[in-house]
Amino acid sequence: MAADIERWWDDQQARKKGRQDKCQTKRVFTSEAEARAHAAADRAQFGDRFTPYRCDLCGDWHLTRSAT
Ligand SMILES: [Zn+2]
Repeated sequence: MAADIERWWDDQQARKKGRQDKCQTKRVFTSEAEARAHAAADRAQFGDRFTPYRCDLCGDWHLTRSAT
């Protein structure tokens, strides 16, 4: 049924958009070097320690606040 395919497609698009929105609440970097540069700047400015990590959802890099 075409309608089922359309519904499936809409669902896939909605999930994809949801993932992207989730990532967009974080800063996104296209490379580890860029993420590290921002982490160093944040540490100098705010005193917080951030660690770059590769995101499984979008494939780009985000920063996470380190425990220590
Ligand atoms: Zn992401």
